[in-house]
Amino acid sequence: MGTDYNGKFFRFYVEVMKRILDLGAYRYNVNTAEYRGFRKAVMSIFFNELQKFYNENKEIFVDCGCNATGYSQTDCHCGGSGKLLK
Ligand SMILES: [Zn+2]
Repeated sequence: MGTDYNGKFFRFYVEVMKRILDLGAYRYNVNTAEYRGFRKAVMSIFFNELQKFYNENKEIFVDCGCNATGYSQTDCHCGGSGKLLK
């Protein structure tokens, strides 16, 4: 198995999150406190659920040497998730 598979999953996951944020932008004016609150909540849910998933599945993941935290995408094999499949 290639070392970049989790990076692919992470990029897909971030893309789904962005599509949900787009729905919020469609519903709210992006320059409002309502949109900022929605965006913060969505990003927090995605980040926390992903960390929970990694913690519950430690047997299949290993930390990436890049020390990414899962907050944003990078060009690393882990995609910015900070995790690689073992
Ligand atoms: Zn990495």
